[in-house]
Amino acid sequence: MRKQFAVIGLGRFGSSVCKELYKLGHDVLAIDNNEEKVNNMTDHSTHSVIASGTDESALHSLGIRNFDYVIVAIGDNIQSSILCTLILKELGVSNVWVKAQNYYHHRVLEKIGADRIVHPEQDMGIRIAQHLVSEKIVDYIELSDEYSIIEVIATEKVSNKSLDQLNVRAKYGCTILAIKRGNDINISPFPSEMIELNDILIVIGHKNDLKRFEEEGM
Ligand code: ATP
Repeated sequence: MRKQFAVIGLGRFGSSVCKELYKLGHDVLAIDNNEEKVNNMTDHSTHSVIASGTDESALHSLGIRNFDYVIVAIGDNIQSSILCTLILKELGVSNVWVKAQNYYHHRVLEKIGADRIVHPEQDMGIRIAQHLVSEKIVDYIELSDEYSIIEVIATEKVSNKSLDQLNVRAKYGCTILAIKRGNDINISPFPSEMIELNDILIVIGHKNDLKRFEEEGM
């Protein structure tokens, strides 16, 4: 379903979010107080507007309240990021996602009602570290302090075996959610599904269980 997004702050993070949402077929309003940043986004957004994220009347006139999600990607200027978030919540925006610079910024954003706070640099750092330590792990998404989703490459040890035979849930306590093979993805594999060498398994579980599965089961 087509959704309405607004991205405020078009630095590296904001502009990537904006481009990708637009590419995925959604309506995206791109906002920045820097004219050049706004011009760079004209071909990658539905509308691009020069405005400050701290200008309440400008945001109100843009009908910001009606957007499904507003992403605040104002980076270095923590004060503007906080003020912008506060205005958005006061205007009644239901989903405000904000990029935080540090722990204190995060805590303030939490207090003023940001719906989701992201730390792209830290998250990416963790994912890259996971790739570095294990050649089998091709991607890693942290769900909480305890749970994650990993994408692992099927080795000889698991190939030509069915999910039933592998019995990953009973042996390791984690679940194979989906299997990627080339460009195809099977999101609800049957227990009889056979795993082939170099398939990518998308597995969810407790971090300790995933580690055990990756080290002993793969
Ligand atoms: P990134 O890492 O995503 O490049 P950054 O952490 O370097 O971001 P900045 O470059 O400081 O962050 O800010 C991101 C964008 O936010 C810039 O394009 C800047 O012009 C814009 N910006 C800063 N303050 C405001 C504001 N009050 N209203 C709208 N846009 C703003």
